[in-house]
Amino acid sequence: MKGLIRLGTALFSCVFGILAGPAANAQAKPLPGGDAGKIYERLLKQIDQIPIYDNHSHATFPDDSDMDAMASPPDESTVLRLRDTNPEFVTAAKALFGYPYEDFQPEHAKWLIDKKKAQEKEGGTAYFDGILDALNVETCLANRVAMAPYLDPKRFHWVFFVDSFLFPFNNHAQAAKNGDLGVYMPLQEKVLQRYRKQENVSALPADLKGYEEFVRHTIQDNQKQGGVAMKFEAAYFRSLYFSDPPRERAEAIYAKYHAGGVPAEDEYRTFQDYIFRVLIDEAGERKLSVHFHSAVGIGDYFSLRNGNPLNLENVLRDPRYSKVNFVLIHGGYPYTLEMIWLTAAKNVYTDSSLVGYYVYPSELKNILKQWISLYPEKIMFGSDAFPFNEAVGAEETFWLAVRSARTAVAAALAELVAEGAVSEEKALELARMYLHDNAS
Ligand SMILES: [Zn+2]
Repeated sequence: MKGLIRLGTALFSCVFGILAGPAANAQAKPLPGGDAGKIYERLLKQIDQIPIYDNHSHATFPDDSDMDAMASPPDESTVLRLRDTNPEFVTAAKALFGYPYEDFQPEHAKWLIDKKKAQEKEGGTAYFDGILDALNVETCLANRVAMAPYLDPKRFHWVFFVDSFLFPFNNHAQAAKNGDLGVYMPLQEKVLQRYRKQENVSALPADLKGYEEFVRHTIQDNQKQGGVAMKFEAAYFRSLYFSDPPRERAEAIYAKYHAGGVPAEDEYRTFQDYIFRVLIDEAGERKLSVHFHSAVGIGDYFSLRNGNPLNLENVLRDPRYSKVNFVLIHGGYPYTLEMIWLTAAKNVYTDSSLVGYYVYPSELKNILKQWISLYPEKIMFGSDAFPFNEAVGAEETFWLAVRSARTAVAAALAELVAEGAVSEEKALELARMYLHDNAS
């Protein structure tokens, strides 16, 4: 019996060997071979040549309030790498602008601030196009409240916010919950006001049917204005678990509160869960991708439990939405392993935005290696470029995210090559998928 199995195995490997060539003898090793460093150098040189498609950014000048639909609460605690003391930001400013100083002392930072202010004043799209060119970024999604005249629509595509549709009623009880929500809620109300103005809706429609029409028309008009995806930052405001309430319940709640009054917590939640599904349905109709903030968040009251992307499983795996492309941005960090398994569903994708500059490249390498080893066609680069202050802007965070991702993915792939898992040729194909092809 044993002999037969051995004979069978030998026959199989013989046939397989003929079909697949010498690689059929390949067996991945648990430790990399000695030349991982050299493979890394070779790969990085070629990976630097790959034009990037950036799946998530807030390309902006620092004084432009349209950069995001929310703002940082005052006392938030910043991770080590993003503090002003990180010397990598000086390196970024030197690389992009020839910054002549070694720190951001106020009198030094002024040099950089003045330079950027002058560019902003000059207007035109050449400045941010130039930043992309310097980093070999071809296309970039700009997640903003509205597009800016200084962003070239050929290079920057708009991802608009939709959370404000979940908050049409009196939000005082929400805002009073904690300091973070006290900052976020008025900003959501402002975005909804803006959409109402855009759609000429002076008072909230009298019934749910009217409200749904307003929601759907706004989405359609945003798409006409160049929108390619809708974005939820719902994790900052509530759980990412959305139930599936019947329309009649939402209708009754809308009737009760659209003209005033403070809804009870569970009533508001039920209404939001219903409108959320209207938004997902409209995204499917319009072939718009749906982006979710799905990771830790800024602020002092962000709930990891509420923001855990596993909360979305019932939506991601709902056959009614099988035609909707879901993009779970920020890699679900710190739940990056759960995240890659969510992307096993054929319409679910993730990106490495935010996590790519929260952790150093050595750790990003580990995350990318795990992702690449599982579903390499479902992962994308994202910068989450964002201005931290007047001196360290979206420009420097673009740089940090791009350099981190290129070096980390080169290192992850060098290890896989040195372990005998993939060839160098295959490694470059995997790098192109992550940095460009999957998103494009
Ligand atoms: Zn972002």
